[in-house]
Amino acid sequence: LLLCFWAAFTDAEFMKYKDPKQPLNVRIKDLLSRMTLEEKVGQMVQIDRSVASAEVMKKYFIGSILSGGGSAPSKEASAETWINMVNEYQNGCLSTRLGIPMIYGTDAVHGNSLVYKATIFPHNVGLGATRDPELVKRIGAATALENRATGFTHVFAPSVAVCRDPRWGRCYESYSEDPKIVQAMTEIVSGLQGDIPTKSRKGVPFVAGKNKVAACAKHYVGDGGTKNGVNGDNTEIDRHGLLTIHMPGYYNSIIKGVATIMVSYSSLNGIKMHANNDLITGFLKNTLRFRGYVLSDWQAIDRIPSVFHTNYSHSIQIGIQAGIDMVMVPLNFTEFIDGLTFQVKNKGIPMSRIDDAVKRILRVKFVMGLFENPLADFSLVNQLGSQEHRELAREAVRRSLVLLKNGESADRPLLPLPKKASKILVAGSHADNLGYQCGGWTIEWQGLSGNNLTSGTTILKAIENTIDPNTKVVYKENPDVEYVKSNKFSYAIVVVGEHPYAESLGDNLNLTIPDPGPSTITNVCGAVKCVVIIISGRPVVIQPYISSIDALIAAWLPGSEGQGVADVLFGDYGFTGKLPRTWFKTVDQLPMNVGDPHYDPLFPFGFGLTTKPAKTN
Ligand code: BGC
Repeated sequence: LLLCFWAAFTDAEFMKYKDPKQPLNVRIKDLLSRMTLEEKVGQMVQIDRSVASAEVMKKYFIGSILSGGGSAPSKEASAETWINMVNEYQNGCLSTRLGIPMIYGTDAVHGNSLVYKATIFPHNVGLGATRDPELVKRIGAATALENRATGFTHVFAPSVAVCRDPRWGRCYESYSEDPKIVQAMTEIVSGLQGDIPTKSRKGVPFVAGKNKVAACAKHYVGDGGTKNGVNGDNTEIDRHGLLTIHMPGYYNSIIKGVATIMVSYSSLNGIKMHANNDLITGFLKNTLRFRGYVLSDWQAIDRIPSVFHTNYSHSIQIGIQAGIDMVMVPLNFTEFIDGLTFQVKNKGIPMSRIDDAVKRILRVKFVMGLFENPLADFSLVNQLGSQEHRELAREAVRRSLVLLKNGESADRPLLPLPKKASKILVAGSHADNLGYQCGGWTIEWQGLSGNNLTSGTTILKAIENTIDPNTKVVYKENPDVEYVKSNKFSYAIVVVGEHPYAESLGDNLNLTIPDPGPSTITNVCGAVKCVVIIISGRPVVIQPYISSIDALIAAWLPGSEGQGVADVLFGDYGFTGKLPRTWFKTVDQLPMNVGDPHYDPLFPFGFGLTTKPAKTN
């Protein structure tokens, strides 16, 4: 009988952390008290999908997986394929002694954008032009659903970078050069995670359930302030500048219960952020009382320079002691596990620090309901690329476009364009290229070119869909002047811009429109009334051509729903977007941000002409 009591008691006690009725802290404490060092270290590891398997998850007690740079089972993988794969990994975790579920992260920075057939929303720079946090919140909610549709529970978004220099290749991931706009756009956290209940404590992670994902504010902190916009370089700034320019996005993300924060590759005043104890443990965790977990960037621990020696385990010590809780290792994970274990065993890292990190990770997993619902089901697969989300993306495109020039004068506007005309010309490398329209972080890390990468509507197709059926649309990528002159077009639409890029590869000191973009503009605009649409992640050099252009539109990186461009071009809707960034005249003016003493832009921050929807066309 005694034995029975004992068995029943231990059984009931064992279930404590598994019991959702127990208070959160009781569950965390109970689970932590049962964990071995090996199990704790495993929770702190995030590995790339390319090295993951159910066996690996089980053997090393791995806490998280990511799809780095779009490492997909195949480009065309369906939602069902993703779910089956994610669940297989999860089953590896569930079959361990304690059955702690993993969390699956991905770079869903403009929709579930590394997944085939997902809705691709405009990149953040375009959303900044809408000035509408509520729209961005709806995009967050749609992004959460499309991620859950493929079994992903964590997105590495939003970027709350305040890009102060457009030469930075990640400028398009920044909503604005203005910290107030970035701060307002953190409303996306509420869309991704759900609205934080009023009774919740500030700083405590919150994720509303099975339709939501854990968000990740990144890259902490000052990533957008590096010299000449060089990715991952040094940001030189005083305390006041740091707190008022680069921090506000974090203040609001934390208030909204953001579950995770990713550390920046960059340095701040010469100190690598991954080694910055003052700002991670001191400011973020102690002053701002952030209770979620801090994630490293990809292989960033390896990049911490050691003044003493180049020992990897020493870099691990510096990073974890700075306050990093989970490390995106993400490939050579056994070396990391060995290094971290070595540090703990040799008192380089106290157990209290490990416990703090693991508690934070477990807190997020408990809050998300992952212990109750660890496996993805198929109930949301239809959300991936749904019509409703595409409509939302189309609305976002319409509202993100900034009209920079419209005819000779306000009383002689060129836009909106008439739908009825005898023959019109569409030209430019970007008119019929979905990959260019979407930019980086689309299917692949650095983005792609062409129309076969995923589903969506190119601008050319959108024009054809919208124009009067009797209007002839001629598409010629790079016509010469003679051709344009001799064809007697009613007007021309020229779509040119940057080619896709992501971090580092996108750093660019001259910001010119790649060839043959400039000659397409001059050939066409010299010969017929023309509208130029620029597809780019940032302002580019346009001053030399501006006088020959009749109407100019900044379309940023609009994503899969090009139909939104035609909606405003032909007046079904009006132009309303405002510049989220200063448009420079020449690159030697950079950096130049609103409020600077020698502010002399081509188009100032906040500029944007409006049109009224056309009544008849
Ligand atoms: C980027 C992060 C990204 C991570 C995972 C890094 O190179 O800086 O923004 O989340 O890769 O793909």
